[in-house]
Amino acid sequence: MQKKITLSEDEIPESWYNIVADMPNKPRPPLHPGTHEPIGPEMLMPLFPMELIKQEVSTDKWVSIPDEVRELYKIWRPTPMFRAYGLEKLLDTPAKIYYKYEGVSPAGSHKPNTAIPQAYYNKMEGVKRITTETGAGQWGSALSFACQLFGIECEVYMVRASYDSKPYRKIMMNTWGATVYPSPSDRTAAGRGILAKDPNSPGSLGIAISEAVELAMQADDTKYSLGSVLNHVLMHQTVIGLESIKQLEKAGDFPDIVVAPFGGGSNFAGIAFPFLRYNLEEGKNIRCIAAEPASCPKLTRGVFRYDLGDTVGMTPLLPMYTLGHNFIPAPIHAGGLRYHGAGAIVSQLLNDGLIEAQSFKQLECFDAGIKFARSEGIIPAPEATHAIAAVIREAQRAKEAGTSPTILFNLCGHGHFDMGAYEQYMSGQLVEHEVTQEEIMASLAELDTPLI
Ligand SMILES: *Cc1c(COP(=O)(O)O)cnc(C)c1O
Repeated sequence: MQKKITLSEDEIPESWYNIVADMPNKPRPPLHPGTHEPIGPEMLMPLFPMELIKQEVSTDKWVSIPDEVRELYKIWRPTPMFRAYGLEKLLDTPAKIYYKYEGVSPAGSHKPNTAIPQAYYNKMEGVKRITTETGAGQWGSALSFACQLFGIECEVYMVRASYDSKPYRKIMMNTWGATVYPSPSDRTAAGRGILAKDPNSPGSLGIAISEAVELAMQADDTKYSLGSVLNHVLMHQTVIGLESIKQLEKAGDFPDIVVAPFGGGSNFAGIAFPFLRYNLEEGKNIRCIAAEPASCPKLTRGVFRYDLGDTVGMTPLLPMYTLGHNFIPAPIHAGGLRYHGAGAIVSQLLNDGLIEAQSFKQLECFDAGIKFARSEGIIPAPEATHAIAAVIREAQRAKEAGTSPTILFNLCGHGHFDMGAYEQYMSGQLVEHEVTQEEIMASLAELDTPLI
């Protein structure tokens, strides 16, 4: 009974997988927020280094991982895969359950997989400072860590509500040398505009993005960085799935179902796209399930149309499943899943019926998280508990149907900074959140962005 399936350093992938090359319908182009015309790569130049812009629009199937990035990946990669014997036993299921554990990175999640290459390409092009936003602090800490490795200044706009409630995430970013500001701040026109209307605004990811983008537009030596949603970010995360393929091969197995939690799509893409390639290329039929919160259900209850990435309207319009860029989800504990939209590639795949989505309420997720911690040991991030809840449903379905599928899921981070949430759950104080149809309709009614 092999529990832990490991790889050696030389088995870290040499290329990222770009699923765009294999998609039957390519993602639609980004549009200018003012003219609604497709934008060319040059429009993105104030924001991103050229190499990342090239990757954003690339249709090459494989993109080489630079040696320097592979060397830094070795700090925590290859990440381990485990067979969840403990959880299987607890559930008394005939399903075989495996999980890939991304919580072993210095920041505690999958996010450094893209933070490192993003910082690297910025460094190569002489960038001195990177601005970004962060919600719960996962992305901000990953980028702070990566920027420190390359000697780049990192300026993080952290959603005010999290800034106040998660002080240790901020101190982690400071430890890696970053400067952190609560958003909305008075450092940008976007922030000042929001504060003028509501001096006590708790902020949102959309507002923080507006602030970080505004600052990057203003200075030549400053660029912006995003931790999810964009094509190049999803591609960097495919190291997760590419390693998983080798690990399952060692275990003599292959998945019928691949599951990941879904915020903007990066860790889902990371584990699922290398497996989807078998569906697209060889006609295999692996089910890839994105698990999202019932309080922010863009994939299961949103609409597929163009929408903005931020609140103020400074980003291009992207084709996405969205709840509307003014949608403010309930303050659930899976902060990383509270974004209003999904990336263009994942949205196109969902629209084409090539992936599935399911939504989960908070209490079912924490119940799944506790089951997992007690049977497998690792305390999962609240985001990751959405995948575990999906796996438990599938495992129970298998038991009822008398089938024994092989299920792989992404344990995208640990929950060591989320003990407050676990405390609330265990003391019965955690409340259920499910957005109403009226709330979704009201948010979508405000949209005047182009339809698809
Ligand atoms: C950011 C984050 C997510 C959500 O983002 P995706 O881009 O959808 O992966 C999920 N889990 C953790 C632990 C995160 O830090």
